[in-house]
Amino acid sequence: MLEGLRNASFAEAGGIFLVSNLLIFGGSILLCWLLGFAFKNRRIFDRWEPLRRVEVGAAIGTVFLNSAVSVIGWWLWTRDLIVLEASSVGRSVFDAMVMILAMDLGMYVFHRIAHVRWLYPLMHRFHHRHEATNPISLFVFHPIEVLGFGGLMIFFLAVYPMTFAGLIAYLTLNVLFGTLGHSGVEPFPALVNRLPLIRWVGTSTFHAEHHEHPRYNFGFYTLLWDRLFGTLDPEYDRRFAGEGRTD
Ligand SMILES: [Zn+2]
Ligand SMILES: [Zn+2]
Repeated sequence: MLEGLRNASFAEAGGIFLVSNLLIFGGSILLCWLLGFAFKNRRIFDRWEPLRRVEVGAAIGTVFLNSAVSVIGWWLWTRDLIVLEASSVGRSVFDAMVMILAMDLGMYVFHRIAHVRWLYPLMHRFHHRHEATNPISLFVFHPIEVLGFGGLMIFFLAVYPMTFAGLIAYLTLNVLFGTLGHSGVEPFPALVNRLPLIRWVGTSTFHAEHHEHPRYNFGFYTLLWDRLFGTLDPEYDRRFAGEGRTD
């Protein structure tokens, strides 16, 4: 299958990645909706942000741009400028963790820059139109930000010889984290915040708080960089424990 993808034409690769990204878009919306339904007693926001036409348009634009980024990544891979190795499960898990931490740091830095006062209205404010979130929030971004995220991912892949399975694991986790972070519900019990290592994982509450108070919680997958740089919302532990929530 990989050989077939490598030898595909531009049009074929474009078609494959467009269909894949449309499936990811639909899957994420469905999962977000299911989470909202399954955990309706554990809501962080008491409502979903209403669906607006301009944001639906932006979300569809994001799907097309993500497909274009995928094609660029594919082209670099066919030219061996991105190397994806087949390797053991252990190495793949290790690679996925490395990519999570590296991308989290990169996104933390760019996210903080995106919130700089003069820059914020130009791009990132668009994502923050959603003070509460809804199932398409994960895709409501300014096009420059979508390309920035894609560029960061391609840069990482160009400098780090990733395993193929590690990349698939990372991409899957990326969608799961993004969907969870914008679901508006907190499926994880308060106990999670007391478990070693696990308590460093970014939760739904963590990103929801960023939409409420944009000066905190710039990380995405982990709390690591926010804890390190002192930008974790001081209310995080209390909010995660469910105080003020309707469960
Ligand atoms: Zn968000
Ligand atoms: Zn932000």
